[in-house]
Amino acid sequence: MQDLKRLISKYSTPGPRYTSYPTALYFTEDENMQRLKELALDSQQQLSLYIHIPFCKSLCWFCGCSSSVCADLAKIDEYIDLLEAELDLWRESGLNKPRVRQIHFGGGTPNLMTKDQTLRINDIIKRRFEIDPEAEISCEFDPRTLTDEKVQAFMALGLNRASIGIQDTNADVQKAINRIQPQQMNVEAVNCLRSKGIKSINCDIIYGLPLQTLKTFSKTLDDLMSLQPDRIALFGYAHVPWVKPSQKILEKNPLPTSDEKVELFITAMKHFEGCGYEYIGLDHFAKPQDSLIEARKNGTLHRNFQGYSTMAGLDTFAIGLTSISDTKTSYRQNHKDMRLYKESIQSGRLPISKGLILTADDIVRRGIIMDIMCSLKVDYNNYGVDFKTVFADAIEKLDSLRDDGLVNVLDNGFEVTPLGRLFLRNIAMLFDNKLAGKRYSKTL
Ligand code: SF4
Repeated sequence: MQDLKRLISKYSTPGPRYTSYPTALYFTEDENMQRLKELALDSQQQLSLYIHIPFCKSLCWFCGCSSSVCADLAKIDEYIDLLEAELDLWRESGLNKPRVRQIHFGGGTPNLMTKDQTLRINDIIKRRFEIDPEAEISCEFDPRTLTDEKVQAFMALGLNRASIGIQDTNADVQKAINRIQPQQMNVEAVNCLRSKGIKSINCDIIYGLPLQTLKTFSKTLDDLMSLQPDRIALFGYAHVPWVKPSQKILEKNPLPTSDEKVELFITAMKHFEGCGYEYIGLDHFAKPQDSLIEARKNGTLHRNFQGYSTMAGLDTFAIGLTSISDTKTSYRQNHKDMRLYKESIQSGRLPISKGLILTADDIVRRGIIMDIMCSLKVDYNNYGVDFKTVFADAIEKLDSLRDDGLVNVLDNGFEVTPLGRLFLRNIAMLFDNKLAGKRYSKTL
């Protein structure tokens, strides 16, 4: 335990979460928009479709997502009109009923939509995409606005996975973060989803929130375990008030120190492992029979803007405000500002605000970083470059990680050890040449 704490404090440094490489901080408005569009249209065979619903009933003060409070549900109708119009613009550009193997509703709070609004979105999707009969269809749910009929509406599209936001079950912590959500609501949400036949449920919790102590957090962990989620996402709260000014409010109450955060993380990790969950890496844990574990074993684990997913090789086609899409060689992001998003669509322009076309060097580095994150190993022969020459500096630095037990260095590559899974971001950073001058949250 002492050694683990020593390593965590040694490697706790600002760094990307690598849901993409290069990170979104490198997307630029100066990118060639025409080319971004062509690259999107070239990748229509097998897609992962992401739909962003950027509205919530109230704002949780810790939240780093793109969302705004929506008191008038008519605003959501207008937004669905825009989503439909965005897809029509893509169809006019050449998008031709591509096949989707994954659909994910994220937010914000997708289940702020009424039953009828959800059914309308379902219809819009069905008319424009061919949905694979085996597709994974998932949604992020907020138990505070979940109802039986809303779940039923998502089921009509084929929902088979759900993710629910728990965060913390302590009443004082909930007050400090502006998210009142008694445990009974979580129980009812999980029961509702399971009664409809949803077999895979993920729960999100957060460590590092104001007023959290080992005692309060242990109770949150017990509450979480009583729900028996199939997957758990254990996020470290990233305090970045220079990006999210609302986080400043959290400073009214004491935030756990770095050392206390480490204790909270280790407590949670041991709790989950003691209950039979396996550590995927970064923030994710899963039951041994979960498909994420299987994907890790058979090499199909993938990392994208939604975190880990089981389907490697799919390009993400994302619609809605602020949503990010990727292809094998590019990223593109829609406007973050609703006014600009709307104006763009209403004047007949795709609402892409920025993007990035990857260089050959970016593609190699992205491959290495995603292998570290997903396969936990790097074979120097796999990237089409003279690896030992191009990455001589990084290879030299691996020795120190090996001495700390984070990697095993092989003749022609390296593999991440079970301990090293805690430090994936640090290992990946060795191969990232775009760290300078950007502000990131701490790796641990
Ligand atoms: S945590 Fe979820 S519900 Fe809370 S503001 Fe963020 S997106 Fe909305």
